[in-house]
Amino acid sequence: MGRQIAVIGGGAAGMMAAIQAAGEGAAVTVYEKNERVGKKILSTGNGRCNFSNEAMGAEFYHGSGTALADGILAAFGVVQTKAFFASLGMRIRDRDGYLYPASDQASTVLDLLRYELDRRRVTVHTGEAVRTVSFDRDRKKFGIGQQGEDACYDAVILSCGGRAAPNTGSDGNGFRLAERFGHRIVRPVPALAALVCKESFYRQVAGVRCDAALTLLVAGKEVCAERGELQLTDYGLSGIPAFQLCRTAAYALLDHKSVTVRVSFLPDLDEASCESFFRERLAAHGEDEMDVFLTGIVNKKINRLLMKLSGIRENERAKDVPAEAFVRLRKHYLKLETVVTGTNGFDRAQVCAGGVDCAEVTTCLMSKKQPGLYFAGEILDIDGQCGGYNLQWAWSSGTAAGRAAARKERL
Ligand SMILES: Cc1cc2nc3c(=O)[nH]c(=O)nc-3n(C[C@H](O)[C@H](O)[C@H](O)COP(=O)(O)OP(=O)(O)OC[C@H]3O[C@@H](n4cnc5c(N)ncnc54)[C@H](O)[C@@H]3O)c2cc1C
Repeated sequence: MGRQIAVIGGGAAGMMAAIQAAGEGAAVTVYEKNERVGKKILSTGNGRCNFSNEAMGAEFYHGSGTALADGILAAFGVVQTKAFFASLGMRIRDRDGYLYPASDQASTVLDLLRYELDRRRVTVHTGEAVRTVSFDRDRKKFGIGQQGEDACYDAVILSCGGRAAPNTGSDGNGFRLAERFGHRIVRPVPALAALVCKESFYRQVAGVRCDAALTLLVAGKEVCAERGELQLTDYGLSGIPAFQLCRTAAYALLDHKSVTVRVSFLPDLDEASCESFFRERLAAHGEDEMDVFLTGIVNKKINRLLMKLSGIRENERAKDVPAEAFVRLRKHYLKLETVVTGTNGFDRAQVCAGGVDCAEVTTCLMSKKQPGLYFAGEILDIDGQCGGYNLQWAWSSGTAAGRAAARKERL
């Protein structure tokens, strides 16, 4: 008989781990606290599930596990993931390298995983939150305690997720299960979430979407930059470029450092080209009132906000605006500074940064503290950028942990 394996958490990583372990001949039981498995998958990619990306590699990940990710992704990366889902029957749609099910339904991915769990005779207990995991040194077996019942296993895979989107089940309790085996938890913070900013002007521009370049400054030093479609909200910055800066901002704020973002609304222009752009515009349209003069540069609400912040009136004739006011206006188009006071929190984050310290797991994702205990998915201190990287980590790490647990691999 194959090894008895328990998977704690039936999300993307847990389901993948269970399928792969069962594929190796193990008898697998999944414990999922929700009434159904894979709830989070349904909300991914705006309901369409961006399950991977053709541009793949450890450089798209952060945390203590980036070196580990290199090997894990090399063994089971985007090529193997596409082949895996194709073998389950899924047609794939490629949007500039971003991969989705051709049905454009996240439920397709979940359904195919559920059917495969059935096909491989994986036992799934839903509505069962595991409260304790213990190891009996004499019997060399793990005990799973849930609702008073105890079951024994040769290996356990912890795939409880992190703390992001706790309404989908990942509320951080997996970290406590890992801590009981002596694991260090790298401080969890929201990653891929919107940034809350101090200024009151955001109400004037809420709802605007525009191409922008964002530079994150921590204690006055530039640390990272992103470009893409910025979404302005009544509380601050959202959209993919803001999401990508979130984990760095969150850690800096946790360390009580000052965090600001510099926004360029004209990301293709540097200072010199911006100056000549305005000089030429002034030569052609200097007689216009400023509201008219600026029309067509970027979204009207942004033009008006930047005018106001520069101390320029909307009905002032462009050629009468003092040179210093134009200098301020150009600076605001290229480098509007905004103070970040927080993130949108775990409730509205897509991913959790931090988690089980990857220095304490082997290359096949087994615990160095407790042989036979494995990890998969977001519970580990590794988080990917926006664009299919977090689900890819779930598929890759789930495969690594599932196969290793079934084959009794340790390194
Ligand atoms: C709104 C949103 C959109 C996203 N979009 C994308 C996207 O398009 N592409 C992408 O790559 N990533 C996306 N992500 C991120 C991605 O969904 C996650 O990184 C990934 O699903 C994590 O998988 P996981 O299995 O590690 O954790 P989870 O999906 O969080 O699963 C953990 C599971 O464990 C269960 N559990 C926890 N504790 C216990 C316990 N004690 N006992 C039993 N069960 C337990 C939970 O109920 C949960 O079902 C998105 C996330 C969100 C919130």
